[in-house]
Amino acid sequence: MSLFAWRWIQRKIPTDDVLKKRGFSLGSKCQCCGQEESFDHIFLTSHTPHS
Ligand SMILES: [Zn+2]
Repeated sequence: MSLFAWRWIQRKIPTDDVLKKRGFSLGSKCQCCGQEESFDHIFLTSHTPHS
């Protein structure tokens, strides 16, 4: 995956990681496994975000 594609996906999929950087903190958990729903978690596990 190119760096451009990586950054594009990060902008298109606002996870808690991104929201926290913007000053928000929703503290949502992954509905698949209960872990904190971060971009890395969604990307590495292919778990679907539930926003
Ligand atoms: Zn999960």
